[in-house]
Amino acid sequence: MAENSLELGDIKIRVLEDGTFITDAGNLFGGSGNAKIKGAMRPVLVDTGDNLVLLDAGFGPELPESLEGRYELRRNNDSLMDSFEEAGYSAEDVTHVVLSHLDADHVGWALNPPSFPNATVYVQRASLEEAKGLPEDNSRRQAVPGVESGVEEGWCELLDGDGEIVPGVSIQVRSGHAEGHQIVWIRSGEEQALYTADLAPAKIWLDPDLISGVDTDPEAARKNRIEVLEEAVTSDSPVILYHEPSGSLVKVRRNDEDKFEAESIGG
Ligand SMILES: [Zn+2]
Repeated sequence: MAENSLELGDIKIRVLEDGTFITDAGNLFGGSGNAKIKGAMRPVLVDTGDNLVLLDAGFGPELPESLEGRYELRRNNDSLMDSFEEAGYSAEDVTHVVLSHLDADHVGWALNPPSFPNATVYVQRASLEEAKGLPEDNSRRQAVPGVESGVEEGWCELLDGDGEIVPGVSIQVRSGHAEGHQIVWIRSGEEQALYTADLAPAKIWLDPDLISGVDTDPEAARKNRIEVLEEAVTSDSPVILYHEPSGSLVKVRRNDEDKFEAESIGG
């Protein structure tokens, strides 16, 4: 099986693409490091048979103005919309979109412009409230008008905590990176897979002691990261890493030094 797909009983999971970004390490870790970091955007499609659920929605057609100069977006023919076709689906087929939080690299195609005409978009109310209090040049704040018009027009629903989106797809609030940041558990029978979003977005981010310059509440992020990864280790669940540029479907384990470590699966 290709490394970008996974089956859990009757549920099919496809990891899609929305290009890659390059940024200074300092933008992610804080400080003023000159090193460049590369990340991918890998929205996830969950086909339960009755429903087609998209987890996060990339940058959208273009890099937002507020990130120009700090982020470089690279796409060959691999924007999210092309990726749908390659996977044998179309944007019209999507029934539900879960936004883990409101950063620009997660909400793009869902809000600017809304690209899934038959889908309901799910956002935690706490994420919206946090975004409303941020400065105008913050990308989370810039997602507010999109979410609010979605609520008004009936295609966006605000959530208050954990719940089931459709049978087999459940969200769980694990804040720290953002208020109301939500992760997703995909379950079929005894099997489950985990989408960590920006709680643990790439292999290098599995170290709970790596305090990120972009976490709203680093202590909460650290605690939640440990608890969630521990659960993935114990249950031997596949984990999907949204920003991992090479092999985003992984298994997480504890290594000899008792640190979390991820190994790509499939291929
Ligand atoms: Zn992100």
